[in-house]
Amino acid sequence: MRRQGTDHANVAMSDVLCDFCHSEWTDSRPMIEGHLGACVCGQCLAEAYRAVILNGIDDRDGVPALDCTMCREAREEPARRSAAWPEAIICTRCITMATKALERDAQ
Ligand SMILES: [Zn+2]
Ligand SMILES: [Zn+2]
Repeated sequence: MRRQGTDHANVAMSDVLCDFCHSEWTDSRPMIEGHLGACVCGQCLAEAYRAVILNGIDDRDGVPALDCTMCREAREEPARRSAAWPEAIICTRCITMATKALERDAQ
């Protein structure tokens, strides 16, 4: 997401916020961008990966498919909801793809 009042012709790193924790993009906090400016930071992504992929946690709560903040699709697969900002949801596919992108960037 973008900070409110961002000059879209001149977006600074500090204008780019993680949809899942609302932290700024910094050199030590990598950011993966999804559709329509949605972003997830490396920390939230790692947390979602641990929860969904490693521990089998599914925040769908009986709803078959939640709208993913990152890809804007309602996919019938486990998803992680942000504890701090519950409107932010990431699906299994986005967790996997974003984690791969982050690992590529880190090399
Ligand atoms: Zn975050
Ligand atoms: Zn998704």
